[in-house]
Amino acid sequence: MEPAVRVTEIFRSIQGESTRAGLPCAFIRLTGCSLRCVWCDTAYAFHGGSEMSVSEAVDRVVRLDTDLVEVTGGEPLEQDGVYPLIDALLERGKTVLIETGGHVPLDRVNPRAVKVVDVKAPGSGMESANLLENLDRLAPQDEVKIVISDRKDFEWALDFVRARDLDRGRTVIFSPVWEALPAATLAEWIRDSGRNVRLGLQLHKILWGDVPGK
Ligand code: SF4
Repeated sequence: MEPAVRVTEIFRSIQGESTRAGLPCAFIRLTGCSLRCVWCDTAYAFHGGSEMSVSEAVDRVVRLDTDLVEVTGGEPLEQDGVYPLIDALLERGKTVLIETGGHVPLDRVNPRAVKVVDVKAPGSGMESANLLENLDRLAPQDEVKIVISDRKDFEWALDFVRARDLDRGRTVIFSPVWEALPAATLAEWIRDSGRNVRLGLQLHKILWGDVPGK
């Protein structure tokens, strides 16, 4: 049987996060996630969606005519169909970013994809879901993202990075919770941290607000 995925939305926008922020990007948002981060901004992708074959999903993404494609969710790696989807998008010549919560093993992801892997700080309520062995599965092009809701999260994230020297030769992004922590405050904390951490802003929210499909 042809592999399928359950999809919440497919759209073209500007990449808002990661080191590719600012580039035109096609997004495919898969439905469902087993976590419940306190500050999750895509709860509308927990349920519903439409089932479609991987080939139909690829055709729809390719029609959006971008070099960059992001596979996101929900949690995209919880669906078996995502792995052939990633392979097919790579075969069509796309640069493929995978946004994952970090709680699913990364070993089935095509190594040519770029993984942006969350580490969950305590303020997410999901710290216990962190799958630390995933950090050993990162390729040089992959990025680590920690969403920060307050100073306690920041101190925790700094300790996490420091203990593993994670910011040496790797992109580590600290991103503020949109409603909870002013970006300028996090910027100052990072500036004074002595670590090689990058401030991550959600460019799409600055441009258009917190709305689906953007
Ligand atoms: S892992 Fe991502 S999609 Fe799942 S609850 Fe957390 S922020 Fe939301």
